[in-house]
Amino acid sequence: MIRTYNISFSYKEYEKTEELDPEDYKLILAARDAALNAYAPYSKFKVGAAVRLMGGKIVCGANVENAAFPSGICAERSVLSNSVSNYPDDKITALAIAAFAQDVLTENPPSPCGSCRQVIAEEESRTGKKIKIILSGKNKTHIIDGIGSLLPLQFNGDNLKINLP
Ligand SMILES: [Zn+2]
Repeated sequence: MIRTYNISFSYKEYEKTEELDPEDYKLILAARDAALNAYAPYSKFKVGAAVRLMGGKIVCGANVENAAFPSGICAERSVLSNSVSNYPDDKITALAIAAFAQDVLTENPPSPCGSCRQVIAEEESRTGKKIKIILSGKNKTHIIDGIGSLLPLQFNGDNLKINLP
């Protein structure tokens, strides 16, 4: 028996910042500010990420590159490490990402890489709370309701459980 499954997802696109929830726009501005702290001498692609915690606090991170390229870290994993390390009990409700290429805000909303999607998925799994993902470009913003849409059929802790007969 062969079954075919189709997976689809929807996301919202905002063309004007005035249309955004003011709290989300605030998070975008925090992500843009955080990008200024990026250490990206090799790619010149500065990424900032900001998370909003349930308690209202905003935590930021940026990409930190390394001459040994794989040792660098993306802004998303940077902010999640920062948040989990310092506020382990305050759940993340939203994550905003913004990027500058050669110091110019990107037109298109940046999307998290595969590794970062996996780490966002782990955080949702750890806290049991979906994270609103806000991808911000210069003139448009994409809002996605949780990492499940960006990482379907994800690998998680359940995959490590041993299924005994
Ligand atoms: Zn990444």
